[in-house]
Amino acid sequence: MSTPPFSTKSSPLSPAGTDIFWKAPMTPEARTIWYKILVGKVPLRHFLRQIGRSTSSLCHLCTTSFKDTLHFQVGCPTKNDVWTSVLGYFFPHLHFSIDCLYTIMTTLTWPSTIWNPSHLLVVIGTTLRCIWIGHWQSSIHNIPFQRQHLVKRAIRETLHILTPLPLDD
Ligand SMILES: [Zn+2]
Repeated sequence: MSTPPFSTKSSPLSPAGTDIFWKAPMTPEARTIWYKILVGKVPLRHFLRQIGRSTSSLCHLCTTSFKDTLHFQVGCPTKNDVWTSVLGYFFPHLHFSIDCLYTIMTTLTWPSTIWNPSHLLVVIGTTLRCIWIGHWQSSIHNIPFQRQHLVKRAIRETLHILTPLPLDD
């Protein structure tokens, strides 16, 4: 069975969203991780099994059985806590449901109430990267997935990108 080089996902990417995605000032690492999601190349548990790091198809954070990328990216309650905290910080007047967030991440379309989509994409890309790092550190190296630490890190790194002021610490 051969794998096509590009995604065969049914949801098409928004051309306008794609343009903003490539221009948004997120870090190259964040964009690369997000790009893997857009083209359907996220390694799940089967990848860990292949490399001998796992024998389970259960989420190691919440022990739910899952096969989909929705749980991996946003649906896992542990990760959803991080998303809710970071998005709540930057968009206190908006509520992003799991489905809404997943749609944004996989189709690059967002609610019309978002007046600065580039800003939104930086927040999501940076948070995604922090969650990704936390996921693999806990999954492969058994380092605890520390929600509050990841929330603070995602907020700090996003502010660093979005504000011209230097941050001390
Ligand atoms: Zn989970």
